[in-house]
Amino acid sequence: MDAQRRRHYLQAMGIVEWQRRDTPSPKSEATEQATVSRDSPDAPNDLSRLDWEALETRVRACTACDLHRTRTNVVFGVGDRNADWMIVGEAPGAEEDRRGEPFVGRAGQLLDAMLLAIGLQRRQVYIANVLKCRPPNNRDPRPEEVAQCEPYLRRQVALVEPRLILAVGRIAAQNLLKTNAPLSRLRGRVHHYGDSETPLVVTYHPAYLLRSPMEKRKAWEDLKLAREVAGR
Ligand code: SF4
Repeated sequence: MDAQRRRHYLQAMGIVEWQRRDTPSPKSEATEQATVSRDSPDAPNDLSRLDWEALETRVRACTACDLHRTRTNVVFGVGDRNADWMIVGEAPGAEEDRRGEPFVGRAGQLLDAMLLAIGLQRRQVYIANVLKCRPPNNRDPRPEEVAQCEPYLRRQVALVEPRLILAVGRIAAQNLLKTNAPLSRLRGRVHHYGDSETPLVVTYHPAYLLRSPMEKRKAWEDLKLAREVAGR
């Protein structure tokens, strides 16, 4: 990407300077790691043999929780199924539910700008949510809904085999990492997800950044950490 375009995308994120991170920071050297168990007693029937087509068919027909009653579309996930980066959000919003695609609308545009700022186009990553159906009125996902739906995400991660998962937003991060810790304590370090111990970095949800543009600087730090981890 040429310097002018990179500057444009950085400006969209509210970042005015470009600093290449050539050496690990003390913070990244002091990386703490957390491992998440893949075992869930509430997991749907074994999904480990399902290929993409079978998994998508299963999810699109899913009625495992009450969210199937109010959804317009199942939001399965989009992008490169062999991507190095996997972006994981919370759940579909109204626009995503209407269009059947994650991270569309203004938040999606900002996510695209965030990715472009580190040299990634949307089509080069795989994007999915913890929940595949929209919770009414955008309420937080309930534990029983996550328990039913997250096995689908785990299978997606197993199929993609990303080098890095970027968890965007508190809800996604807390559910992936099985913690109630605030986002501020989850950012700035590397976690690991699943049996594969896929490196996982946490950042803000772009919808939050639209409401709190002062935090874009911190999001940029998260992206630089993610880029560094993905490149290891
Ligand atoms: Fe099934 Fe997940 Fe939709 Fe619930 S949210 S109905 S578990 S696909």
